Amino acid sequence: MTVLVLGGTAEARALAAALVAAGQPVLSSLAGRVSQPLLPVGHVRVGGFGGVRGLVEFLAQQPVSQVVDATHPFAAQISANATAACAATGRPLLRLTRPGWADHPDAPRWRWVPDAHRARAAITGAERPFLTSGRSTLSAFLPLADRDVLVRLVDPPEEPLPVRWRVLLSRGPYELAEERRLLRDHAVDALVTKDSGGAYTVAKLDAAAELGVTVVVIQRPPPPPDVATVTDVAAALAWCLRPVS
Ligand code: NAP
Repeated sequence: MTVLVLGGTAEARALAAALVAAGQPVLSSLAGRVSQPLLPVGHVRVGGFGGVRGLVEFLAQQPVSQVVDATHPFAAQISANATAACAATGRPLLRLTRPGWADHPDAPRWRWVPDAHRARAAITGAERPFLTSGRSTLSAFLPLADRDVLVRLVDPPEEPLPVRWRVLLSRGPYELAEERRLLRDHAVDALVTKDSGGAYTVAKLDAAAELGVTVVVIQRPPPPPDVATVTDVAAALAWCLRPVS
């Protein structure tokens, strides 16, 4: 029987590798949003399931014994779908989600906002904002067309952006020295990020603190209720390999 890992994160790739190393069959699922995704080891499928109904059918047809939702903390729809589909099919579900940045030493100085629109409102005084909150949030910032906005994305934007905006295409992890240089070179005066958490992209926050850059953090959506949750790959591996009566 296979473990289905809902992925698209570094933790999901690490869990797939650990399961393969332990001899446990694993099927990783990716949404297919990114043009050249980093592929996990083991079997991989790509694309949506077709909502809760599609995922229920998938679980009924495939030899999946249990599901790990290791998707990004902001991927709320697939997490809700997994919760509903596992409840409907009786498949055990574990959520693997990295801790957020609320415990970062500078977190009390950041402006925490519930969504991208509030993040835009929080940086109306900025002349050179740096947006790292992802492609799906960009439309909320379009009113800042008259600012020298720097945007960092994995894939190119889907819609044209204001001519004054500059787009950097790259994928983490990032080091403190390069983040410091980037913020300095672009004279960034405000940084917008999701509370993605983890170590891969935290260096921008450390660099912003050093340079006195305003930081605006978009809070995580609420996690799915009543789902067993772990925050590290070792705990998720232990759950997958536990004896099941
Ligand atoms: P989302 O809003 O929660 O999901 C939208 C739809 O995409 C889902 O209903 C599902 O389609 C499909 N989907 C999402 N994740 C999937 C997966 N792992 N396997 C198969 N289908 C999936 O998700 P999102 O925020 O667009 O994120 C998409 C993917 O990118 C996630 O897998 C996530 O781990 C990764 N990611 C997201 C972020 C972020 O900031 N949101 C950042 C880094 C990585 P159906 O309803 O058709 O099944």
